[in-house]
Amino acid sequence: MPETIFDKIIRGQIPCHRVYDDAFTLAFLDINPIAPGHTLVIPKHAAVTLGELDDESAAAIGRVLPRICRAVCAATGASQYNVLQNNGPLAHQAVMHVHFHVIPRNPRGEHRDEAGLGVRWNATAIDHAMAGQLAARMRSLLSP
Ligand code: AMP
Repeated sequence: MPETIFDKIIRGQIPCHRVYDDAFTLAFLDINPIAPGHTLVIPKHAAVTLGELDDESAAAIGRVLPRICRAVCAATGASQYNVLQNNGPLAHQAVMHVHFHVIPRNPRGEHRDEAGLGVRWNATAIDHAMAGQLAARMRSLLSP
């Protein structure tokens, strides 16, 4: 897969504000933060989307994410946060190397949602007939 700026950060060719580092994962501050403390958590072994990630990297990220969320909150004073993970350009992925955004909310006790992450959530009523078919299809894809 084509190299991204995150590969250069992993190799130390581009500087970053490092937050966490182990054999499989790296966390650093986002260069254009939505809120102070906005942190990115990435696997060192590159994959474009979460679905393409190898099990070892996925497990390593899963192990460390909650710890990083706690550190982001403790360092910023936030008690609430979003974990955001974009896959593909239609899903707003700009850097084609899997990454999780940890975005603290309301870190200084300011008014809710005055700045920072805006989420539009255009919910619809479920179509139970279609949902039943989709869930059955997913179950069969996921069955060992
Ligand atoms: P996404 O839209 O989910 O692909 O987000 C990519 C994120 O990477 C954006 O929030 C960028 O600000 C961030 N980013 C891009 N280049 C760098 C960099 N050199 N250091 C830190 N964060 C970066």
